[in-house]
Amino acid sequence: MGRKFFVGGNWKCNGTVESLSKLVGVLNAGEIVSTDIVEVVVAPTFIYLPMVKDKLRKEIQVSAQNCWVKKGGAYTGEVSAEQLVDMGIPYVILGHSERRHILKESHDFVGEKCAYALSKGLKVIACIGETLDEREAGDTIKVCAQQLDAIKEAIGDNWANVVVAYEPVWAIGTGKVATPEQAEDVHLEVRKWLAENVSAEVAESTRILYGGSVTAGNCKELAKKPNVDGFLVGGASLKAEFIDIINSAQ
Ligand code: PGA
Repeated sequence: MGRKFFVGGNWKCNGTVESLSKLVGVLNAGEIVSTDIVEVVVAPTFIYLPMVKDKLRKEIQVSAQNCWVKKGGAYTGEVSAEQLVDMGIPYVILGHSERRHILKESHDFVGEKCAYALSKGLKVIACIGETLDEREAGDTIKVCAQQLDAIKEAIGDNWANVVVAYEPVWAIGTGKVATPEQAEDVHLEVRKWLAENVSAEVAESTRILYGGSVTAGNCKELAKKPNVDGFLVGGASLKAEFIDIINSAQ
């Protein structure tokens, strides 16, 4: 079988036409390992998605960072799953901790978004992860399981187009990366959760990414762990070192 390594770049609310054109130039010029070995996706904000998609080499796909929870219509400021599909966008990131915590998206709301996006044919990068307080209280696995439960409640056994990203909130944008052991421990628990709550096949085939302060310097050790199937990268995906992170695929 073998789960294909996956590296996502979450560009968040960063960039301009000028800076992103330059970044795309760097990504287009970089030497990257074969797409037989790694799947690569970058996620600019909605407004730059078409430009980035047009300019980017075809080995790198694009993703939205969010989408609306149901069919489009009178929802000012939102972008629907149908519209992403219409624009040829294959992926969407859902449940990122910045949306859960800053925009107060609940577990159930994230689950419903996953279900709707999947029903329209999008592939979903579903983010989960605990805060520092939750980790210190010993609740890491409980919190991740609650987030997964809400997704499962909405999507059922339909996990074929889901990539799970484990992103401990305390590691995001802080420079405080999880150790390879900390990441592996949680990834193993997530895989167990999938086996117990969905199926052995889904547990075996679902990619589980690590995210939170991944850099060219720490990615190789993390990538050695058997249950780390790739990365979701924020800050470092805006720099040339993203190429090295892509090439940590194994
Ligand atoms: P970071 O962000 O790599 O800057 O920590 C990761 C993420 O939020 O996906």
